[in-house]
Amino acid sequence: LVHGNVGTVLHRADIAMYQAKTQGRGRFSFFSNEMNVVAQERLALEAALREALLHNQLMLHYQPQIDMKTEKIYGVEALARWYHPTFGEISPARFIPLAEECGLIGELGHWAVREACKQLGDWRKRGLNVPMVSVNLSPTNFHNLHLPQMIMNALEENSLSPKDLTLEITENVLLDTNPSTMKTLLEIHENGSRLSMDDFGSGYSSLNYLRKLPVSELKLDKSFVDDIEYDEASKALSYAALCIGESLQLTVIAEGIEKDGQYSILQKQGYHAAQGYLFSKPLPPASLEAWLVDQKHKESTIQ
Ligand code: C2E
Ligand code: MG
Ligand code: MG
Repeated sequence: LVHGNVGTVLHRADIAMYQAKTQGRGRFSFFSNEMNVVAQERLALEAALREALLHNQLMLHYQPQIDMKTEKIYGVEALARWYHPTFGEISPARFIPLAEECGLIGELGHWAVREACKQLGDWRKRGLNVPMVSVNLSPTNFHNLHLPQMIMNALEENSLSPKDLTLEITENVLLDTNPSTMKTLLEIHENGSRLSMDDFGSGYSSLNYLRKLPVSELKLDKSFVDDIEYDEASKALSYAALCIGESLQLTVIAEGIEKDGQYSILQKQGYHAAQGYLFSKPLPPASLEAWLVDQKHKESTIQ
């Protein structure tokens, strides 16, 4: 530090403070070189994400969902993908929280809704049967009172109706105290789009919210599906989740299905829809089209 200048000292103090804050209030932290590297990386990634949003470099991949009664397509979930020319493939588990932290999540949410509607509109125009698309939104997206209108615009611009779009939310929207959230959710529901509770059963909130929130669908958390074949408790809880959904007239969908054994248990329990690698990984649009055609072909050879 004898050779360091004041600017460097302040900058490093800032990094240490950021670190202390992210670990919780009322803490202290000393600067280390590793910390500097992490902070630099984060800064570079943040700049790259800004750039990617600006130049439309993010992509949506689509994962099919299957109706368990008819075994036909129920819908597709749009999942954000980011391939950076130097950083490579960056997981949404990394860039979604980053977008939250640096104030880009609003923009990312808008982009995902517009892009998914554009894609569905395009599929419909070309005669491909995709019944609906579902888009993930973050709790912060619902702070924006303009969100419902923005969604309606995206639908109209692509000649779609509100029921063609489902919005996936998590229980975290309820931990959020922003007064706009409830209003925005209700308006989206009243406009006719569906809300789906993603990762159902994995959070800490009470079931009370199901009385207040206008959700149309529950999406069982993957963790229950993972162990369903061997763990009686997982199996019992997945059935309990189905009963909660059915008693409230909600559709119930299971995600993360990888094995036939898991699928048949869920089907016996009465699950309405299924999603997972067993059917397909999330695919870029062109590959999803090929998957759909292949599916049609299989259906016609069975009949
Ligand atoms: P999610 O919405 O619960 O999405 C399901 C995740 O499970 C996806 O991971 C999907 O690729 C993965 N998955 C699906 N089937 C299987 C399976 O059979 N086995 C396994 N092991 N995994 C499976 P992904 O795409 O990495 O997304 C992770 C999370 O990132 C999502 O969880 C969602 O919360 C978030 N996310 C993705 N795209 C967006 C977006 O556009 N906006 C927001 N706000 N969040 C997004
Ligand atoms: Mg989801
Ligand atoms: Mg999920």
